[in-house]
Amino acid sequence: MSMQWDLAGIYPGFSDLSFKEDMERVAHFLDLLEKFNPECYQKKEEAAEKYLMLLADYKNIFSKLMAYTYLKASDNSRDEEAFKVYESLEKTSSRLTEPQVRFRRWLSSSKNSTSLSNKTELLKEHSFYLTREIDKSRYLLSDKEEAIAAELKRTGSAAWSKLQQKLTSTLPVKVELDGQEKILPLPEVRNLAYSKDGKARENGYKAELEAYKIIEEPVAAALNGIKGEVITLCNKRGFTNPLEETLFNSRMEMKTLQSMHEAIVDFLPEYQNYYRFKAALLGKKESLPFYDLYAPMGKADIRFSLDEAKNFILEKISAFSPEMGNLYKKAFDENWIDSDPKNGKSGGAFCYSIKPMEESRILLNFNGSFTDMTTMAHELGHAYHAYCLKSEGILNSDYPLPLAETASIFSETVVCNAALEASPGDEAFTILENRISEAGQYIVEIYSRFIFEENLFRMRKESVLSVNDLNALMSNAQQQVYGDSMHKDYNHPYMWLVKPHYYEAEENYYNFPYAFGLLFALGLYNLSLEKGSAFLEDYKKLLRVSGQSTISEAAKSIGININSVDFWKSSLDLIKKDIQKFIHLAGSQ
Ligand SMILES: [Zn+2]
Repeated sequence: MSMQWDLAGIYPGFSDLSFKEDMERVAHFLDLLEKFNPECYQKKEEAAEKYLMLLADYKNIFSKLMAYTYLKASDNSRDEEAFKVYESLEKTSSRLTEPQVRFRRWLSSSKNSTSLSNKTELLKEHSFYLTREIDKSRYLLSDKEEAIAAELKRTGSAAWSKLQQKLTSTLPVKVELDGQEKILPLPEVRNLAYSKDGKARENGYKAELEAYKIIEEPVAAALNGIKGEVITLCNKRGFTNPLEETLFNSRMEMKTLQSMHEAIVDFLPEYQNYYRFKAALLGKKESLPFYDLYAPMGKADIRFSLDEAKNFILEKISAFSPEMGNLYKKAFDENWIDSDPKNGKSGGAFCYSIKPMEESRILLNFNGSFTDMTTMAHELGHAYHAYCLKSEGILNSDYPLPLAETASIFSETVVCNAALEASPGDEAFTILENRISEAGQYIVEIYSRFIFEENLFRMRKESVLSVNDLNALMSNAQQQVYGDSMHKDYNHPYMWLVKPHYYEAEENYYNFPYAFGLLFALGLYNLSLEKGSAFLEDYKKLLRVSGQSTISEAAKSIGININSVDFWKSSLDLIKKDIQKFIHLAGSQ
């Protein structure tokens, strides 16, 4: 059995009349937006209403076209037409920047712009959107400067980013496996970290670090170039530092981040104990080398057929929330899911919501492992988030990055916990270890990458950093989070070289959102245990308002104070219980 997603229900094909008509409508609305001049209207509220309606119309059609094209391209990487259309859609959408910036400037310059949102129903509905537009206008440069910055980026950070990509994706790594020397691509070698064979993990790690020496200089130059550009631009825009800019874009307060980090720092000794315990189980003295961090443990091999995974998830989710269960059932019944790996199909898994249709599509590469089952639950959680937003307009549905993984991790947690309860000791041991080490990546490892990035920006402001500087900075950050639970001669000083997010000028600090996503979802899960089914309405409300509030406001709307360290501690307590259970079960292995 396999599940194939229904894409023809979105459009029958690129050459179908409905697709072509929508392409024309998008162009039409873009023309209107480009010509739109708020000064032509007698009343300000009329101008603002007109703009919002045009923008929403444009976005509704565009998002459907984009969804179809993106899904077609991920379904088959050889679908040249899909890639061509995708490129043309991207180009089309770049035309939106100018009218958007013009509106932003007009809105913030016109008097009483803040009281504008009380004038009509439509404006009231979009008051958060309008306020954000005014806030964003504060960080705009002049039109001319914006244009130059955008143009120079193409030969600056974007070019550096391509260089890093090229160097890391074409790097041949010489590695010894089963007594034979092999040349493998970097991702394959890095994947050895999850191998059951300890020697393979160790050889993979050593070969990886050795290979980096060939490309370390140009990649360090790329990193210096990108971070230098980020600092220059963010200062010109009036942000104190890149972290402030990232938090602004994430609609997140500094206090929230600090509270979360305070709780994490407090929790690090728990994780260090776990790593030392894992080291002992693996027969290592006292400390764990980096290459054993993700070593799978236990003998249980838990398998699910596609049907079993589906039925298990439906049963457990429906017991938790009938409404969630119904939505998941709809996803299965109406062919939203594509389950099997196939040639030319994208790797990994994702959920793509098609807002104007109130539907989603889910791509999986299901092979029957336990993680494949929980990934299915994860992606269905994303679809539930989109479902909760269905009564909101498209301009009120855009949620910030740190909230993007809330519903997915929540759903995964519900299903995973149900599985744990139903599993015998040896299986529970394997599931728990997997979950703890994965959470460790989000909490401990990610925190080291945050510390590194903060120090990198601080030092880059003064001067260029050498390869040695970068390695030392990364080693220190790892030392800070792992302490002596990680072997100091076997850490990973080159993490800066390989993490792609460091090379995206628009995605600074793409690390803490992972920790936030996990811990926020766990905090919510805690509340669901406390409040029972009364929590479900709160949960729905939180997801519904996620597109039109700051993160702390969204949480506050259901009585959560995410600026309190205690909230984050309660999330971490769940992991603490996992660790205790794991250590207890290890005794009987
Ligand atoms: Zn996700």
